[in-house]
Amino acid sequence: MDFELTREQKMIQKNVKEFMKKEIAPIAEELDRECHLPEGIWQTFGDLGLLGLGIPEEYDGSGMDKFTFTLVVEQIARICPGLALSYVAHSNLCAHNIEHNASEAQKQKYLPGLCSGDRIGCLGLTEPGAGSDAVGIQTTAERDGNHFVINGSKMFITNAPIADIALIYTKTNMEKKAWGITAFIVEKGMPGFSAGPKIDKMGHRCSPTSELIFNDCRVPVENIVGELDAGINVMMTGLDTERVAVAGLSLGIGETALELGLKYAKARHQFNQPISDFQMVKAKLANMYTEIEAARGLIYRAALVADQADRGGKGTEIHKLAAAAILFAGEAANRAANESLQLHGGYGYTTEYPINRFYRDAKLMEIGAGTSDIRRLVVADELIKRGPGY
Ligand SMILES: Cc1cc2nc3c(=O)[nH]c(=O)nc-3n(C[C@H](O)[C@H](O)[C@H](O)COP(=O)(O)OP(=O)(O)OC[C@H]3O[C@@H](n4cnc5c(N)ncnc54)[C@H](O)[C@@H]3O)c2cc1C
Repeated sequence: MDFELTREQKMIQKNVKEFMKKEIAPIAEELDRECHLPEGIWQTFGDLGLLGLGIPEEYDGSGMDKFTFTLVVEQIARICPGLALSYVAHSNLCAHNIEHNASEAQKQKYLPGLCSGDRIGCLGLTEPGAGSDAVGIQTTAERDGNHFVINGSKMFITNAPIADIALIYTKTNMEKKAWGITAFIVEKGMPGFSAGPKIDKMGHRCSPTSELIFNDCRVPVENIVGELDAGINVMMTGLDTERVAVAGLSLGIGETALELGLKYAKARHQFNQPISDFQMVKAKLANMYTEIEAARGLIYRAALVADQADRGGKGTEIHKLAAAAILFAGEAANRAANESLQLHGGYGYTTEYPINRFYRDAKLMEIGAGTSDIRRLVVADELIKRGPGY
């Protein structure tokens, strides 16, 4: 498996890195403090072709693959993990899912606006009473003529306060559990559809999160994504690529945590020498580097396998590989952020140094897109299903 980037991938990676350094780095702390995304960011990302990455050109996308998308997520997260989270929710959770599972008419209708940044997307799976137990969702959709009437709510939805388009999962048959789930596209302005107030969070503070509320919300039958009662298929294909993308976000956090720790350790003097001279400090730096590079290998491999699966290749390996990648990367990012903050001593505990933001942002990487416990269950269940020689 070859991780050598193509010329085009290197160029996209460099452009995003430069954009983030020049335009977002100077305001990243303010975005965190004041809890908002950069002004005009959707239009800018649309103009740069970033929102259409992984979407074919016929729908105004920029083409390319999951691997390239993951490289971009990593670069955004190195400077501003909250922006990376909103970017993933829009592009991957919403647009990629629509591209992968929706009808031709739905793709024509929704993808161009999502690629240009004229319309913002989100995905609603989690509910107040159903997180890890995703098939236990209770939001219902009942048929009424040419419409379905949706009732219930979705919890912790990234971009919900600003979204124009929501891909959501509902129960259309309560008795059938997993095979009673149906995915719908719901649009802002449909009667009975609203977003709750912004949720105040400890990290990813610039990324807006809220509930989505459905109160007798009428959605036309043609807004079903995939087949009636077969939304589990949409959910499962979406979750694999979401896990790879979110793993890329963890990688970006881990890389910056190491960089900040390294910089501080070389500059800070105690006992008349830089603290980077001390063996225990060196061990921390070496451990961070080793884990981050291990995570990179796992994530890039998972991204390449996700692309193969998209092209009709080995579809099943991606399930456990994506879960393993997000599991390892999320925990590695947390260890790196923790060790880096420790290297900063008391200064790390103040809001003056950016490591505190990365430390807070890192925690979500063990919770969102399935907690570490659930990721372990996915990996183990796949191994057990396949047996020795997996
Ligand atoms: C900032 C943020 C953004 C998010 N964005 C989105 C989004 O855009 N769209 C969306 O749909 N969701 C989103 N989520 C929701 C997220 O995916 C869920 O929070 C996550 O899946 C966990 O669900 P829960 O919070 O209900 O926790 P629970 O499922 O209640 O879990 C609580 C604890 O129990 C453990 N647990 C549960 N079941 C098991 C088990 N079988 N074995 C072992 N341990 C178990 C969990 O690991 C966890 O430690 C977001 C969450 C946050 C915080």
